[in-house]
Amino acid sequence: MKNYLTASISASALRHNIAVLRRLVGSSVKLCPVVKDDCYGHGMDVLYPVFSGLVDGFAVASPIEALALRQKGYAGLVLCFLSAYFDDLEVQDELVEKGITQTVMSKTALATIQTAAIRVGKKALVHLKVDTGMGRLGVPARQAADLITAIHECDGVDLTGIYTHFATADEADRSAVFQQLELFKSVLPKDRKIICHAANSAATINLPETHFDMVRPGIAVYGCRASNALGNAVDLKPCMEVSAKLIAVKHIPKGGRSGYGLTHEYTRDSRVGIVPIGYGDGYFRNLSNQAVVRINGMEAPVRGLVSMDQMTVDVTDIPGVQVGDKVEVISSDPRAPNCVENLAVLAGTIPYEITCHLGHNIRHVLVD
Ligand SMILES: *Cc1c(COP(=O)(O)O)cnc(C)c1O
Repeated sequence: MKNYLTASISASALRHNIAVLRRLVGSSVKLCPVVKDDCYGHGMDVLYPVFSGLVDGFAVASPIEALALRQKGYAGLVLCFLSAYFDDLEVQDELVEKGITQTVMSKTALATIQTAAIRVGKKALVHLKVDTGMGRLGVPARQAADLITAIHECDGVDLTGIYTHFATADEADRSAVFQQLELFKSVLPKDRKIICHAANSAATINLPETHFDMVRPGIAVYGCRASNALGNAVDLKPCMEVSAKLIAVKHIPKGGRSGYGLTHEYTRDSRVGIVPIGYGDGYFRNLSNQAVVRINGMEAPVRGLVSMDQMTVDVTDIPGVQVGDKVEVISSDPRAPNCVENLAVLAGTIPYEITCHLGHNIRHVLVD
């Protein structure tokens, strides 16, 4: 980990976003934030203490992430989007022992979980995942009733929930979401004694009819919109700022160039700053010659190709720049040119990928 790169993670922004989402769904709907991939790169270690008192559960992708939450002392609902049927036996057993809710989407997965429950001597908790059109993990909707019966007949396995996932909730055209929604409703058990859930961030914000008993927002919790099609209906605050320090400032004469491939030619006598971050740290290489960073509140364009652990920025127009000055690589101000959403557009990707990539090599600190 590079201790000279800092991801400052805002506790107050996270609290604000959770409060906004709570207001949207009302008090009778559970809020279960998605914290997979180390909280979308924001860092579970720093965010767990902020989250823990404010939410009704956590959703993760992998069994190991689920067990890590128990290690932190979390006793509530932990929903694992995968089950451990392809994992080691010890992991399968521990999930049951620790009361992790696993996802069942096939009879194979069910059989594995049941075997673990028998070995451990404790009931395994499961949610059934139904594929209503996303075409990814989940039992096809027409086989859902059959699998529900199989789970009920299975000693040692407790069906506590049922869910689906939308493919297009962040798009302006809602027809595919409504088709998925109708199909989901058609497979829900009539008595509704189990937790039904469907909504990701986009659906939580834009489609109240998808809230059911619980919502599973991810990206919105961290303060970004799933896509620009969502407009500015809710006021979210980005939680992540990434900063570095200038490690060198040099003069490059008119006609000089910088970086691999010498892709940028300076058209005037210039001062260039070297920033110790690159694509190895998750700063996308295709931001080269496109993005800006900010120094002393002013914009410095990224010039030349981003290297693995360094890049060059043009500081000619910023007076008094010195080695050691703070470089704001990613701003937590949603209006800044270097906010996560804008960088995602420039890099041709989505905000999720920007924050996830930056998560791994950087020191995370909790601020305010
Ligand atoms: C990642 C994920 C979510 C959260 O999606 P966002 O768009 O980040 O809100 C919800 N449900 C499932 C099944 C997921 O995999």
